[in-house]
Amino acid sequence: MADLFESATGIIDEALAHADVSEDTVERLKHPRSALAVSIPVRMDDGSLKTFQGYRVRYNDVRGPAKGGIRFHPDVSLDEVQTLAFWMTIKCAVVDLPYGGGKGGVIVNPKELSLSELERLSRGYIDGVCDAIGPDVDIPAPDVYTNAMIMGWMMDQYSIIKRGRTPAVITGKPLSLGGSLGRDTATADGGFFVTQALRSKIIDADQPTAAVQGFGNAGMTMAELLHEAGYKVVAVSDSQGAIHKPDGLHVPSVAKIKRESRALKGVYCEGSVCEVVEHDQITNEDLLALDVDLLVPAALENAISADNVADVKAKMIVELANGPITPEADKVLYDNGQVVVPDVLANAGGVTVSYFEWVQNRQGYAWSADMVRDRLKERMVTEGERLWGFAEDKGVSLRVAAYAQALERIGAAVDATGHKADFAS
Ligand code: NAD
Repeated sequence: MADLFESATGIIDEALAHADVSEDTVERLKHPRSALAVSIPVRMDDGSLKTFQGYRVRYNDVRGPAKGGIRFHPDVSLDEVQTLAFWMTIKCAVVDLPYGGGKGGVIVNPKELSLSELERLSRGYIDGVCDAIGPDVDIPAPDVYTNAMIMGWMMDQYSIIKRGRTPAVITGKPLSLGGSLGRDTATADGGFFVTQALRSKIIDADQPTAAVQGFGNAGMTMAELLHEAGYKVVAVSDSQGAIHKPDGLHVPSVAKIKRESRALKGVYCEGSVCEVVEHDQITNEDLLALDVDLLVPAALENAISADNVADVKAKMIVELANGPITPEADKVLYDNGQVVVPDVLANAGGVTVSYFEWVQNRQGYAWSADMVRDRLKERMVTEGERLWGFAEDKGVSLRVAAYAQALERIGAAVDATGHKADFAS
């Protein structure tokens, strides 16, 4: 996680050179606003009592309530939660949401819990952090190994404690409890809208070729959208390997098999369903090195590093995953003229539709799927084009532009709070 924190904060110095922000802003961003550690006692199914460690960090809330997911994972630490909360602060500012950044986590392997133990843990987490969250304070959402069902339990528990229905305390809920239409595909939708908005500035081809690393929630939907829009998706992969077809995969068939078999493995095997999709098998490393117009890393962090960046040939790389390119590799790509659409913009569709969910909850009015998608498109295209202009103007990468813009937006709010003026007078 130290590496991840470095890639999140290491770029700040570079961005500051192109951002007009006060010293106050820099000082405020060096420290989390609050970091809460809680012990969560959970009655296990065998009658024993087990205590889990949980965290909630509100990194910064100068632009609005903090926003960020809750992660259930054995490797969770306060350090990691803090890093991710910082990242959320930047991401929310990049797409101009009226939010700061937060994050939460519990040290647990949820796969080892029964469903009822998982529910007691989720409700226990809210018992522990309820005074630190709220619709105007800090609004959690799903993250690694948490989902809509868990968000529903958490919202219900918060409502019980507060003795009043409070759907806007958490996003990513089931539709029946105030979730938003379009939340499940929002990350890929947002990445796709930005790709379409910037594509003509980077890629000449009428039918661009594309490769998607990570055929999961985000990657599979992105591959489907690209296919529908006329891209030739020549390769996709999951943790077990990659499939490649130089004249383009039939993505709907691959997605159907993946949905039915829960893995691309269904495509690799021999048999009736598998023969539907013609392909060659390649490795994930081969996929990253394909000579394609567009590469979409949608799996894990650090997929492209100093070790393999020289092999990467794509003209445009859209970071649907968080942190898939290390800072050293990022520099090499920029120097080569290969354009990286950074994660803080490319995958911000998820948090944007979370914001729409919160707005709908506060309005008490559910939007149609088209309304969600149209508003997401408008925001992603506007912010994508704004960053492109800023990057061109300053002669910097889109990543530096994104951080510089975010710092300026956060800085404007810091300065407008007037603490400095009050102090001086
Ligand atoms: P997911 O678990 O649904 O999918 C991840 C996919 O990557 C799986 O198919 C997995 O098999 C594959 N994978 C794992 N290791 C791989 C490897 N070495 N090579 C190739 N493929 C590999 O997860 P997701 O929700 O789609 O998230 C993917 C990335 O997008 C993560 O970095 C996540 O933080 C980021 N992201 C997701 C969302 C969202 O709303 N889902 C929002 C913001 C960011």
